[in-house]
Amino acid sequence: MNNLWSEEEFRQLTDELSQRVYSSRLLGHDKSLVLHGGGNTSVKIIEKNAFGEDEELLYVKGSGWDLEKIEEGGFSPLRLDYVRRLAQLPSLSDPQMVNELVTHMTRATAPAPSVEAILHAILPYKFVDHTHADAVLTVSNSIDGETRVREIYGDRVVVIPYMMPGFDLARLCAERFSTEAGPNTIGMVLLNHGIFSFGATARESYERMIFLVGLAEDYLQRQGAWNVPNHAPRPAKAGTRVELAQLRKNLSETMGAPAVVARHTGERCLAFAQREDLAAISQQGPATPDHVIRTKRLPMLGRDVHAYAAAYRRYFDELEPMAKERKIMLDPAPRIVLDPELGMCTVGRTAKDAAIVAEIFNHTIDIIVRATALGGYRALPAKDIFDVEYWDLEQAKLRKSGKPAMFAGEVALVTGAASGIGKACVEALLSRGAAVAGADLNPNIETLYNRPDFLGVQCDLTSGEAVGRLLERTTDTFGGLDMLVLNAGIFPGGCRIDSLQADEWQRVMRINLDANLVLMRECHPLLKLAPRGGRVVVIGSKNVPAPGPGAAAYSVSKAALNQLARVAALEWGGDGIRINSLHPNAVFDTGIWTGEMLASRARHYGLTVEEYKKNNVLRTEVTSSDVAELAAEMCGPLFAKTTAAQVPVDGGNDRVI
Ligand code: ZN
Repeated sequence: MNNLWSEEEFRQLTDELSQRVYSSRLLGHDKSLVLHGGGNTSVKIIEKNAFGEDEELLYVKGSGWDLEKIEEGGFSPLRLDYVRRLAQLPSLSDPQMVNELVTHMTRATAPAPSVEAILHAILPYKFVDHTHADAVLTVSNSIDGETRVREIYGDRVVVIPYMMPGFDLARLCAERFSTEAGPNTIGMVLLNHGIFSFGATARESYERMIFLVGLAEDYLQRQGAWNVPNHAPRPAKAGTRVELAQLRKNLSETMGAPAVVARHTGERCLAFAQREDLAAISQQGPATPDHVIRTKRLPMLGRDVHAYAAAYRRYFDELEPMAKERKIMLDPAPRIVLDPELGMCTVGRTAKDAAIVAEIFNHTIDIIVRATALGGYRALPAKDIFDVEYWDLEQAKLRKSGKPAMFAGEVALVTGAASGIGKACVEALLSRGAAVAGADLNPNIETLYNRPDFLGVQCDLTSGEAVGRLLERTTDTFGGLDMLVLNAGIFPGGCRIDSLQADEWQRVMRINLDANLVLMRECHPLLKLAPRGGRVVVIGSKNVPAPGPGAAAYSVSKAALNQLARVAALEWGGDGIRINSLHPNAVFDTGIWTGEMLASRARHYGLTVEEYKKNNVLRTEVTSSDVAELAAEMCGPLFAKTTAAQVPVDGGNDRVI
């Protein structure tokens, strides 16, 4: 266990809340302690209230904040006396408890306090730290877990049997702590849940956490259950893009909405998915309630989504006869798929959700493998996991979460995505909730955005092999394809037919036409499996309806692409795929146009640059974002009944009109 404490950094921090922020971030930085909003910390501080009186406040982590990135504003200030009194009530429902906490904060704009706030309040220490440390969960979730925990810690911790987070758990901890804590007590282990440490200073509490978790790690090491070698896995299956898209379609149907499916074929995931004893060790349940909400109860083994959903419904019906009354939203889709050929696939309503599931389950794999080496992984009984999975508070959050983004769970591929109209299309699609793969010849595409819902791929679209690799990477990352924006193309320098060379003509056709044919052909089986139907948008050109002299190759390539799109609309309509084109003109913010070029073109027509930019019927400037917004809308419900449309986006052109 790494102690990350830096006294030099800490010495700069004079007030207690910023000290609390500092050591919370240290905990959050270590993913073997907490993951994604898991864990929480607090500090008790005396402050003056509006009457000038001293009042003791409990600053506890607000819900929705991640320890790694927490700031002072991420802590909720609660009136400590009041919260301590709550702990003496005989009972309090979860919604009541949340209401009591929220109405006893001293800052109206603070986040809702953690549901474990009362637990922090009852511990009589200034600083309290709580994590879901892997090593502690490993020992606790193994056969004879409690005995092992007691053997490791002796009287250093109070051991609390499992109980669902909330008021009753806080009460139980208060009781046990007051009777069992002794002079050597520096922490509390909550079986099948996590660990608390506490102290008079931020450093004392932090270092006790590191020490206590370190004891569990040392124990696992001594038992030969820390560095557990895995067998070398068989290589993951390649060329699985259609299989993945089919799996995603089935998962989306079961979930009732499009889902992102991310494939992971690292050695550990693959070795785990190929274990002989996988069915026995993976079907126990998550290691802590904190993970249940993200990962759901059990991973799916293999690819039979319907069998999984049916088994899930049986489990649900058995444990929740009141589902209708409680207005529970049943969700029988798995979040993790373990398949010997595919490796580990994680499922989410968004790419971010799928990434969080992956991170959690990577730790779960470690925990299961180590606990198995220790003698056997044993998670909580199904009923306890179910209670967290369908917790009132989580259900309330789901009901409140509102309408999802237009393209939540959907996947788009944009070509020529590094700049200009293509880049604007990426942004328009991301802003509507889609996961986007951007392809471009320019290597900058790979690092255009650093976010889980974007994949940049450098790709020469005129190479069939490169297109194949692009689609494999897209489906490995997001699971399938719903929307294709054909934007990549070149506009060669002006050249009249009398001097147009065949190789130049062929070069333009290869890039603007042939590459799109190959891409459309290869995308068709994926688009056919899009949960809401596939959509293609072709970025055409004003030159399709109104060609210009000196642009023969360009105009012909775009006109041919236009005709290709019309035939595709006829051929693919039966597969639920619609394809529409838009014809931009005079889009000058694309990087191809330098200020100098603009000035020279404007001079050529005897216009100022401003006049030249707005040289259309509406006297308006057309930007790449205008084109991209229309392209994105063409993929949305507004155009749900439209295919083979051609829409100009040119401010009105008298030759087109
Ligand atoms: Zn917890």
